Amino acid sequence: MARGKYKRRATNRKVVVKEEPATNIIVVEKRKKGRPPKEKPEACHVCRVRATPEWRNGWLDLKGTSTKVPMCNACGLHNAKQRKIGIISREQHSIQKLLN
Ligand SMILES: [Zn+2]
Repeated sequence: MARGKYKRRATNRKVVVKEEPATNIIVVEKRKKGRPPKEKPEACHVCRVRATPEWRNGWLDLKGTSTKVPMCNACGLHNAKQRKIGIISREQHSIQKLLN
């Protein structure tokens, strides 16, 4: 074999090779890069979609109180926009603003 000439490095940084003496099985574990994956919600609270490029946190007024709910990318953006508009319009029509 031509391997002798081009020796592989014993310590590969990306792959960890463990040799278990009992079973003689070589276990190869790949190290994960970056952040650990976030816990994904089951489905979007609004449209029930299960696949989305990004999960977002939306706020819905349930029983008079704002509740944090998992939303898909589209619903999350829509919700954020609606909230922004809602807050602004409420400020504009607030009694204090009208009186002053
Ligand atoms: Zn959705």
